[in-house]
Amino acid sequence: MRTLRTAAEVRAALAGPRREGRSIGFVATMGALHAGHVSLIERARAESDEVVVSLFVNPAQFDDPADLERYPRDEAADAAVAAEAGADLLFAPGAGDLYPDGFSTTVHVAGRVTEVLEGRERGSAHFDGVATVVAKLLNVVAPDATYFGQKDAQQLAVVRKLVRDLDLPVLVESSPIVRDADGLALSSRNALLADADRPRALALRRGLLAARSAAEAGERDAGVLVAAATAAMREAGVEPEYLAVVDPDTFEDVSPLAGDVLVAVAARVGGVRLIDNDLLTLGEP
Ligand code: AMP
Repeated sequence: MRTLRTAAEVRAALAGPRREGRSIGFVATMGALHAGHVSLIERARAESDEVVVSLFVNPAQFDDPADLERYPRDEAADAAVAAEAGADLLFAPGAGDLYPDGFSTTVHVAGRVTEVLEGRERGSAHFDGVATVVAKLLNVVAPDATYFGQKDAQQLAVVRKLVRDLDLPVLVESSPIVRDADGLALSSRNALLADADRPRALALRRGLLAARSAAEAGERDAGVLVAAATAAMREAGVEPEYLAVVDPDTFEDVSPLAGDVLVAVAARVGGVRLIDNDLLTLGEP
């Protein structure tokens, strides 16, 4: 695996494979790679001839400077994980490579998909930062397929909308949430959890499971699902920042519930902000 720093280097490295008709799979990450990222890279490996992984802690999508400051960074460790998972190229630009002096363009995906939940809590700059960097990375790598995790369900919906609206010629694939044995969704931020807070971090999953049980028992009122999930989280000592049942593509509220619905939750546990979600497919109760 080679590590490259600039867009020009990436384009040059991919020119040959592209000419030969080799397919390119791409996974965008902010590093601190864990089994969730590995599942995306391994899927790209299985489905493409060339696998590109980007490693860039994107300042533009951080609403909290302290969160950006303490975000875990270890390029050597990440390079080893990416290579082991099957990456051919690691694109690890510096902030100045992606945002040189004079950079002044923002990609803004409008609508509820960026306004609610994460958009409301983190501010509109968050998804602008995501959309702008993803548009840039997709333009640089120009992959046939790009792989995103269901873990960041709203980000996935924003990327799908961006690709659709701008006619970007790339297939957006999503992969399921990878969890620890105890059910905690893997996240680079889990490393920041104090040992004493770790059991409480399971509250998010508990809440989601309570909502799922209610739905499986035939409940089709979103408010009742939210109440059941919130109660389960409070029992575990955690107050949700938001907890909502929405359409997984548009992030509009849905009630009564039918078809595919997303239960999404965010909460702070010991100062660490965690998100999780569960995709439910509901038939007739
Ligand atoms: P990040 O490095 O947090 O920006 O994440 C990079 C990609 O990995 C995104 O598409 C995430 O949705 C995905 N990802 C992060 N955590 C997980 C997880 N636990 N399971 C599956 N995918 C994940």
